[in-house]
Amino acid sequence: MAFPEDIKRVISSLAKKTFLDQRDAPPKGHLYFLTSGVLGIFARGHPVCSGLIVPGSVHGWETLLDEGEWRETRALLPCEGFSVPLEPLRKALSDPWMFRFLAVHAVARTRDAATEASCNAIHTASQRTAKWIMRLHRAVTDPKGILITQARLAEILGFQRTSINASCGYLKDRGAIEIRRGRVVVTDVEKLRAICCSCDTHREPVRRPLHRQPEPMRA
Ligand SMILES: [Zn+2]
Repeated sequence: MAFPEDIKRVISSLAKKTFLDQRDAPPKGHLYFLTSGVLGIFARGHPVCSGLIVPGSVHGWETLLDEGEWRETRALLPCEGFSVPLEPLRKALSDPWMFRFLAVHAVARTRDAATEASCNAIHTASQRTAKWIMRLHRAVTDPKGILITQARLAEILGFQRTSINASCGYLKDRGAIEIRRGRVVVTDVEKLRAICCSCDTHREPVRRPLHRQPEPMRA
């Protein structure tokens, strides 16, 4: 949902460039417009990551939804973005716009949580590892690869080290990724996609029109 024009002017007058190191949280009481890097969403006090915020997205509306109590957001990879104080923006936005925006946000969040829960229950460790590497790969533009260790991947997926090593070994053997000095490098996106479970397909760009051809009339 695009911001109204007058709000865009307020945002650019208040925006401050903000960098986050790995594990840093974005500033409280602010919207954070992410331009590069990846933020992870965590249940408070838990190491397992339940979702990602990727470049082009905004973090910080949760405060208005009272989600701030049970979840926290921290940088999974170093981040660059702009922070804007939420309160002046909240006053500037009309209630119907805010209501619609927050409703869309809440529905998307619920859908993602349900998909993630069933993924954890039914898909294999290799499929889930491939899915998370694909998510990070889509968000990262660095040609050197994704700055993440296997130990950190194990932590955010809730895996034992032996499971993540086996899963990464499986992806490596199939030519989908390489592991280089604390980085995961996707060497063949199509091979990686073939191993991923289908849980993220609703986030992928649609390549074919979804409507069907009308069925021929029977004589
Ligand atoms: Zn899945």
